[in-house]
Amino acid sequence: MRAALGERDEGEPTVYRHSVDLWDEVAYWSRKWGDQLEVEWMRGHPELRKERDSWDMLDWMNHAADRIAEAEYDEEGGVDAPECFQNQGKWRLEWREHRITSMTMDALDDIQLESLAEGAAAEQRIQLSAWDLKSTITATGWTGSARRRAWSAKLAWDRAWHRANRMHWKAANRKKREGAMSFLAGEKEAWCRACSAQEVEDARHIMTRCGCEAYRTIRRRWYGKVVEKAKELSVALEASFVAVVANSDGVLQEGEGSSGLTAWDAVSGRIPILWTASVEKAGVKREDYEKWLRWYGASVKEYMWKPLWQMRQQKEKEQDAPLAAAAEVAQGGSRGSRAARRLRGGSRGSYRGGASRMSGSGSNRPRGGR
Ligand SMILES: [Zn+2]
Repeated sequence: MRAALGERDEGEPTVYRHSVDLWDEVAYWSRKWGDQLEVEWMRGHPELRKERDSWDMLDWMNHAADRIAEAEYDEEGGVDAPECFQNQGKWRLEWREHRITSMTMDALDDIQLESLAEGAAAEQRIQLSAWDLKSTITATGWTGSARRRAWSAKLAWDRAWHRANRMHWKAANRKKREGAMSFLAGEKEAWCRACSAQEVEDARHIMTRCGCEAYRTIRRRWYGKVVEKAKELSVALEASFVAVVANSDGVLQEGEGSSGLTAWDAVSGRIPILWTASVEKAGVKREDYEKWLRWYGASVKEYMWKPLWQMRQQKEKEQDAPLAAAAEVAQGGSRGSRAARRLRGGSRGSYRGGASRMSGSGSNRPRGGR
């Protein structure tokens, strides 16, 4: 490849008739990085070869790529966030005309800060002027390993595997997200099963609105801790927190002084400019505020999302139990439904995906669709 491109990249890359997309990637990064580009061939489909416990980072990346491919191939529509998948005979991973294959931390910064934050904020109808992005980064830890970053992004932008997303991601023609996922209101399968409100189970519902007693208890505890911790730093911060997030017996709503960011924004780690302004006005040192912000970000994950999600999984299981038992009886108890298998702790079945190896030689073309 280097030889074909020539010393000054004036040459044309060799044309291969298979895995066009991958060779295109190699040519692109080869031009950009020259001899520093190293391509390594990895065996794909770890799920067919070894136990999950022994997978390394690359195995997981392969697996994730397979799953994304599985979800996108042969689908109509596909207007959901992975707008970065463009199939034009060539295939490349892009977001707004920027390639994002590079796994360097710079690329991750770019994806999170510019590509993702901006687009996701528009999608969630967030007023950028009301949002303190810098403090949000401090709070939610948009740094560190790719895994932690991915977890933060998933939490912040409503991409967990709850009932609304399950419905949404399976739809042939996906509606564009705008704020809440209430466009699924007519779909019974997307409703929360922890309460009887017949509301769509999206992140907003789980983290702020759902009236289920167990959820409310978790939220009340978190709220109490935040108020206490904010007060320790400054009464002004306490007041501005309460102004944005109001607690009504464990149901979180927009407070009286909320301007631009919702209660859900705040509990998913987005910091309103109002909080920052209030501590600045009160003369709190930035480093002390940053310490609080880091605590706040961790509290959202540890005291809200984690226990709420665990509770949610437990409730799903409880709801599935009678169905699973019935299915087992209907099938003579031999194989059982997917739900029953899940309750027994069995595997979800082998996954039939296309090869999406990182790179290298050999025939690695994704299944179907082309
Ligand atoms: Zn609910």
